[in-house]
Amino acid sequence: MSETTLEKHTFQAEIQQLLDLVVHSLYTDKEIFLRELISNASDSMEKLRHLEATEKSIHQPTLPLEIHITTNEEAKTLTITDHGLGMTREELVKNLGTIAHSGTKAFLKNMQDSGSTPGNMIGQFGVGFYSAFMVADEVKVHTRGWREEGEGLVWISDGKTGYEIDDSPDQERGVKIVMHLKEDLKEYAEETRLKHLIERYSNFVGFPIFLNGKRINEVEALWLKNKSEISEDEYKAFYQFTGKAFDEPAYRLHFSADAPIAINALIFAPSENPERMGFGKVEGGIALYSKKVLIDPNPKGLLPEWLRFMKGVVDSADLPLNISRETMQDSALVRKLGAVISKRVIKMFEKEAEADPAKYRSFYLKFDRYFKEGIATDYANRVALSKLLRFESSLTESGALCGFVDYVSRAKDGQASIYYLVGGSREQVESSPYIEAFKARGLEVIYFTDAVDEYVVESLGEYDGKKLVSIRHGGVDLDDHAAEGDSLTDEQTTALCDFLKAELGDRVTAVASGKRLIDSPVIALVPTDGMSPQMRQMMKAMDENFKDEVKVELEINPRHPLIKKLSESKDSNPDLAKLVALQLLDNALIAAGLLEDARDTVSRMNTLMEKAMG
Ligand code: ADP
Repeated sequence: MSETTLEKHTFQAEIQQLLDLVVHSLYTDKEIFLRELISNASDSMEKLRHLEATEKSIHQPTLPLEIHITTNEEAKTLTITDHGLGMTREELVKNLGTIAHSGTKAFLKNMQDSGSTPGNMIGQFGVGFYSAFMVADEVKVHTRGWREEGEGLVWISDGKTGYEIDDSPDQERGVKIVMHLKEDLKEYAEETRLKHLIERYSNFVGFPIFLNGKRINEVEALWLKNKSEISEDEYKAFYQFTGKAFDEPAYRLHFSADAPIAINALIFAPSENPERMGFGKVEGGIALYSKKVLIDPNPKGLLPEWLRFMKGVVDSADLPLNISRETMQDSALVRKLGAVISKRVIKMFEKEAEADPAKYRSFYLKFDRYFKEGIATDYANRVALSKLLRFESSLTESGALCGFVDYVSRAKDGQASIYYLVGGSREQVESSPYIEAFKARGLEVIYFTDAVDEYVVESLGEYDGKKLVSIRHGGVDLDDHAAEGDSLTDEQTTALCDFLKAELGDRVTAVASGKRLIDSPVIALVPTDGMSPQMRQMMKAMDENFKDEVKVELEINPRHPLIKKLSESKDSNPDLAKLVALQLLDNALIAAGLLEDARDTVSRMNTLMEKAMG
């Protein structure tokens, strides 16, 4: 090494954190480093193969696209060589010295704050290359980029604080990683151990892998094989390899079809959801092949966005091999392919949910947001997706979930609507006065308690021809219910309503006697086009100047003792009656989560208490 060419660099702070995590927290999964490095080599050669289509001059174009692994037990070294893209000096610094991916940064921070390491998530955030330092105390990356002009370089690091870059003359295009193994991890220089690992983790790599000169992997397209010839273990290994995943697949769909287009697909649903664990949006995990040739590892426009959590492979013999990534989105064939696959995936979930509701429940609790996003954004699949929704209701036990199918099967004869109420939690929804009338009539009410639910039901509008109706709104038609207890007469009721309307003025659109109330004296109903409290909160969070005067319809309960008393005192003690009228409205607004400013409420309350105590 000549001193003039040696460059010393320190790692970006995040890399040091990452290395610390990789080396100290991941004891159990050390062997995965091999899969990570093989996968990088494979990705790089895949990219080179695509470059070949557009680039005339590639350095050393005849080098074979193969992965060569060699071991030296005596020297305790392990070497992995590929002839992919290789890296320039700038790329070495950028790719192996900094973390570019913002999701990884966010995740690291998250993990630091919470102090825990979800081991099975590690592969999701591109720890990739750095996993070499789990087993090696020194790593040398020899490389030469694919462009004709370029230089052979070597990156050297002990994985602690930094790295050096030096010249590496005669280096061929691609990357050669030489790892010096830690004293207690010599096993990774044993041929039999490595052979086993390659077979286990990397059997599906699309390039030949040689170990000390002998060919190891089969390069088989599992998705084209017969289901009966594939074991559960093979499926799992395939999922973990293609999906760069560490969890178990929760569900699997393996099918082939000839019409309307030729499709062979092997698709998995994961059991862990990285988006819920603090990552950004996950990238589409379904790769597109044509007759075993990879067309695009992340085809944009093949599947609707909300399906981005699924992983696997779709192969269509009908796709022309030369279809470019740019034109793919406009291809009618690709759109058709996407439509068929999304239908099959939804059907698969529907069947699996029916077959094992408990398993589906735990899956749903982690992945529901994707289905909901689909309902809001994917018009073509909206109806089919609504069958996958689950929720609690006034007829389910707390924590148990049901679907629209269950609701409809339990609905009363002639019930034309599906009733729901949006709220923050089951407890909150159950204690709201809106529920009373529905409970009394044995009408089931769905509890939507996720922040996005309101938007989702509004997008949906109906299910199976039944309108989805929020019971918070006015205009819900309920049949007569034999209510108990004496009531005000019609005349007294009308007079009281007139009095209240006059007192409350513009703050209410109307005051009427209703059929909804059993235990409460009054209830505030929101106009059908009005916002729910959840929506208002969201608007306020987004815009601090957001102001929107709520006008409600007040419904009174003519059987309630307080209402009956009020009917008397409006003539005998009008001053008190006026105070009570205002307080009743505020109480109704509080119960509805709609009271904006409580200052008057509190002082009035104090006055009322003084009066009550004489
Ligand atoms: P990821 O593969 O998830 O991007 P890694 O830490 O494994 O993260 O690798 C970082 C980057 O280093 C890669 O994105 C790639 O640009 C580069 N790299 C790693 N290995 C190779 C290789 N064998 N050939 C070419 N580039 C590589």
